[in-house]
Amino acid sequence: MTEAPLTSLYQALILEHYRHPRNKGELADHTVEARVANPVCGDEVKIQIRLEGDRIEEIAFDGQGCSISQASVSMMTALVKGTERSEAIRLAEVFTDMMHGSEDASSDRSLGDLRALQGVSKFPVRIRCALLAFDALREALGTGLEPDPLGGAAHNDGSQEETTH
Ligand code: ZN
Repeated sequence: MTEAPLTSLYQALILEHYRHPRNKGELADHTVEARVANPVCGDEVKIQIRLEGDRIEEIAFDGQGCSISQASVSMMTALVKGTERSEAIRLAEVFTDMMHGSEDASSDRSLGDLRALQGVSKFPVRIRCALLAFDALREALGTGLEPDPLGGAAHNDGSQEETTH
């Protein structure tokens, strides 16, 4: 990576999220859940969301891996918490476009801290690390079932990718 001042600022933000992750932990009353992994790098991300209607009322993650994967999931949870499902899916699309080199996407301020990851798009093997968070989000939102209005919760635990520690 170059040592341009902007890059240094972005690297500091990535490290800050990595060291002090937002929304890390278990969400006991989640309604959907997804786990994804990036075997190339050894990254693992699990997210849990409590949907109320179409709103992401709460979101939490757990995971391990490189600083890019863990910082991006911290940033992603902070960004989508409180948003509507449709907005979260739009942000996933904009972020994916940014990681694939779109200048329009990288200038979209609605990505917030996630814009710090735009430099990663120059390193093809690391793009997967950055996209892991939104892969998990899309899986949770796309395949998750609506919560049962009578009080039960539908779980999508993505057990086909189950890993143990
Ligand atoms: Zn990684």
